[in-house]
Amino acid sequence: AIEVSNLHKRFGPLEVLKGVSLSARQGDVVAIIGGSGSGKSTFLRCINMLELPSAGSVAIHGETIEMKTDRHGGLMPANRRQVQRLRSQLGMVFQNFNLWQHMTVLQNVIEVPVHVLKQPRDKAIAVAEALLRRVGLYEKRDAYPAFLSGGQQQRAAIARALAIQPLVMLFDEPTSALDPELVGEVLAVIGDLAREKRTMILVTHEMKFAREVASHVVFLHNGIIEEQGPPDAIFGAPKSERLRKFISSIH
Ligand code: ATP
Ligand code: MG
Repeated sequence: AIEVSNLHKRFGPLEVLKGVSLSARQGDVVAIIGGSGSGKSTFLRCINMLELPSAGSVAIHGETIEMKTDRHGGLMPANRRQVQRLRSQLGMVFQNFNLWQHMTVLQNVIEVPVHVLKQPRDKAIAVAEALLRRVGLYEKRDAYPAFLSGGQQQRAAIARALAIQPLVMLFDEPTSALDPELVGEVLAVIGDLAREKRTMILVTHEMKFAREVASHVVFLHNGIIEEQGPPDAIFGAPKSERLRKFISSIH
């Protein structure tokens, strides 16, 4: 479903990603783990071109996003519509929910379907209500985000991301801003999506959860993949010393 090849990203002199490749097929759950500053968020942001890669390529559903060189020698999309199409196939969930505060939960969920994807409003509302039911927020559909708990806000953000019917869901530490007692309700929703065979790339510090739901685990260190493999190998028999240290530092 998605294929990322040899991605590089530099911010000025700082090379944050040094050639990261990853592919996920339909139904795969790829967990990305790694220490602070290893480049996990930058990697996700490059996938949906919120951040432009310095080199490398992203292909979704067999379509490679064409890039051209700008006058500073960096890359930029050759075709803006192609980037819009890419984004319309990726559902992104952020650490800090990023709900629109001046909109109700329902308005948040229908905003992109109605105003960007130009779906009929009544159809978008029907889809949104079904999604809100699934994440347990139907009764909060007319509430504003400020009146929700962090766990409820994140579940609303997941419903919003699902509303565009994405091919791939991207999660960037979806539970790390939550109070501990609210983590479980959000992981339960993500776990359901995994069991439904949704394609997902998930950055997380929840190692137990990653071991349960992931089909493949990638350990990033200093902008490169230090080790990767099936969850039982990564967590049960890590080869690299750095990965061993990282895993023991999390518990
Ligand atoms: P964390 O676990 O703390 O979220 P991370 O693995 O997500 O870390 P990134 O946020 O991808 O790490 O950051 C990787 C490196 O890139 C860091 O050194 C960070 O300071 C740097 N960086 C990220 N975004 C920018 C930016 N817009 N400009 C300059 N440097 C940046
Ligand atoms: Mg991050």
